[in-house]
Amino acid sequence: MTEQTTTTADSTTAEGAARPTVALLGTGIMGTGMARNIAGAGLPLTVWNRTRERAEPLADVATVADSPAEAVRGADVVVVMLMDADAVLDVLAQAEPGLREGVVVVQTSTIGPDGTRRVAAWAGEHGVALLDAPVLGTKGPAEQGKLVVLAAGPAAARETARPVLEAVGARTVESDEVGAGSALKLACNSLVASLVESVAESLVLARALGVDPHLVLKAVRGGAMDSPYVQVKGAAMLEDALDEPAFPLAGAAKDTRLIVEAARGAGVELAVAEAVQRRFAAAVDAGQGGADIAATFRAPR
Ligand code: NAP
Repeated sequence: MTEQTTTTADSTTAEGAARPTVALLGTGIMGTGMARNIAGAGLPLTVWNRTRERAEPLADVATVADSPAEAVRGADVVVVMLMDADAVLDVLAQAEPGLREGVVVVQTSTIGPDGTRRVAAWAGEHGVALLDAPVLGTKGPAEQGKLVVLAAGPAAARETARPVLEAVGARTVESDEVGAGSALKLACNSLVASLVESVAESLVLARALGVDPHLVLKAVRGGAMDSPYVQVKGAAMLEDALDEPAFPLAGAAKDTRLIVEAARGAGVELAVAEAVQRRFAAAVDAGQGGADIAATFRAPR
């Protein structure tokens, strides 16, 4: 994989850069931020969301379509940002009658290598160029155009999509093979999930041992094992500020499932990821699926 750095989203409008017409399917937490940055880069944009009310706040910068097929009509680049592989395949099937020849579909949802294989099969059947382009970063980076895009697919498709990738991301990590982006995304999200669960367990342990859990965050602050994520998610847990999700726990639980399945398929055992999967599933069962990933802290232990 190679890496491209974008200094600012404005570089997409540099003289001579192509300005593809863009459709974005899925204006949830991530899609909404990405849509604003695509429009902000000066690219003509149409958006669609299953629940239309969630797309309407974008009407000041984009056309809001009634159907996937209407949204993608005339688009050079179609960005897909939906929950899982079934949703992606269902929505692409609905979009298919509107797709123009030469369109590039930029699949940014987290669907894992198996889901990506299914989408690649659909793309092959319909003669559509596919970029497997999941993203690192959460709500804030999506709103700021500072995601890291893991763009895997043919060089020509990456070039067509480049103004879009640069609009949504601070950096793009590129490779030629569809599937490589989704594999890298799962490896990175394994770290995210285990880090959040580790923070939760440190705080639970401190409390159980009769120590103020705030002291855990204070003790590690600025040291080698500290990170912004440790402090931000740890503070959210202790303040119980978990109900406005940056990354919904249901999505994180879906990701840990994909991680464990992919690892098993590759013949490796991930003991930590398997334990985290059980914790996240328990938290979802306890009604925390719509809360932030850090709400694993609330799960019964
Ligand atoms: P979200 O706010 O819950 O958005 C999910 C989107 O998927 C919504 O647009 C939803 O439509 C749509 N959707 C779900 N099922 C559907 C179906 N069967 N048919 C059509 N549309 C469907 O979640 P999000 O956080 O933006 O996550 C979107 C994707 O990005 C997921 O794959 C997630 O794992 C990944 N991701 C998330 C983060 C993060 O930090 N949040 C970071 C990186 C990657 P409705 O509005 O109608 O429900």
